[in-house]
Amino acid sequence: MLIVWIAAATAVIIALIILFTSRGRTSAAAKNLKVVKLKTARSIRDKQAAKAARGKQQPCSLCRKLSSRLGFFTDENGRILGVCHDCKPKIKNRQLDQL
Ligand SMILES: [Zn+2]
Repeated sequence: MLIVWIAAATAVIIALIILFTSRGRTSAAAKNLKVVKLKTARSIRDKQAAKAARGKQQPCSLCRKLSSRLGFFTDENGRILGVCHDCKPKIKNRQLDQL
């Protein structure tokens, strides 16, 4: 009779172990799924941001004229200046560092 009980207890323990390990696997898989989802969401967001930035025009820091291509420099105070093609000679005279 004792052997039957031991066998039953072992079976229950094995069943519990299988249950917990399978649960652990599913939660790990769910985590991986979340990571992949976040990565895809980020790449989609980055692509959209890049697409938006490509067509976007930024104002020149000196003349405020909108330009799609600005040259970036740091001024004497460490501020960043976005400078259009026309204003680049003015900036060059001030001998600022180009970024
Ligand atoms: Zn300008």
